[in-house]
Amino acid sequence: MSDAYGQLLDATIQHLENLKSRSVRHVTVAPETLLALSKPTVAAKSAPSPTRPAEKAAAAPEVNTASIPETTAGVSDSPVKKSAGLKIAAYTALSERARGCVKCPHLASSRKHVVFGTGSIDAQLMFVGEAPGADEDEQGEPFVGKAGQLLTKIIQATGLSRADVYIANILKCRPDTPGQAAGNRKPTPEEMQTCIPYLHEQIDLIQPKVIVALGATAVEGLLGKTVGITKLRGNWQTYRDTPLMPTYHPAYLLRNQSLSEKRRVWEDMLAVMEKLEMPVSDKQRHFFIKA
Ligand code: SF4
Repeated sequence: MSDAYGQLLDATIQHLENLKSRSVRHVTVAPETLLALSKPTVAAKSAPSPTRPAEKAAAAPEVNTASIPETTAGVSDSPVKKSAGLKIAAYTALSERARGCVKCPHLASSRKHVVFGTGSIDAQLMFVGEAPGADEDEQGEPFVGKAGQLLTKIIQATGLSRADVYIANILKCRPDTPGQAAGNRKPTPEEMQTCIPYLHEQIDLIQPKVIVALGATAVEGLLGKTVGITKLRGNWQTYRDTPLMPTYHPAYLLRNQSLSEKRRVWEDMLAVMEKLEMPVSDKQRHFFIKA
């Protein structure tokens, strides 16, 4: 049994055990999922394209099995379709586990939504931020507030869209702010430690080629480093063999509108594009440089 198959099977078993603990006695399973679970297969290697056009059917603002019928429709002997079905099943199981999570009772009782993640589960590029804010908690999707809109613009400036990449946070629930009507707070080390296994599993499933850590908390959560983001940004790090680029959180760019800071973030993105072997135009290369 391959490691990947074993991990996916573990995720599925965990999901079923969670359902059982909630007194669910029957589940509906698609035939292709059963077939995939019965025969471990080797996932096909894909070309180093940043967007994997052939698999774009899997991309959606919020990934779910309903959004990816083309990759799973019908029972096929294709190893790619079998492994895709298995990946979807494991992703769905993981997201449902997170959505029912009450490991941090104070956050579970104050949240409106668990903000699991969004984008393509086949993304080669993954962005990781800190935690959901009020807008994200309201909508159940990461990076949809003002900072999120800026992140969307940054992604689009590379030639990609939000649906081409995957976006998640260190913490899946909004840090509560008792007694405060507004504002955010940084997750505590205990909250981060409790929630980080979900992100590790997400990354293991998605297997991005490059991770961008947005801000110091994302770096701390993924790498355990508490070095200032000013020192770390722009310098490649490694998360479990995956290249990781630390850069400023878009919220910082909203607070600091200087062209030089925007250029620094853009230089980090240029490095990411080069690492992914994406084309870089002259225009892109000169963004935020004064004529
Ligand atoms: S923050 Fe994470 S670990 Fe804590 S309740 Fe939410 S999903 Fe569970």
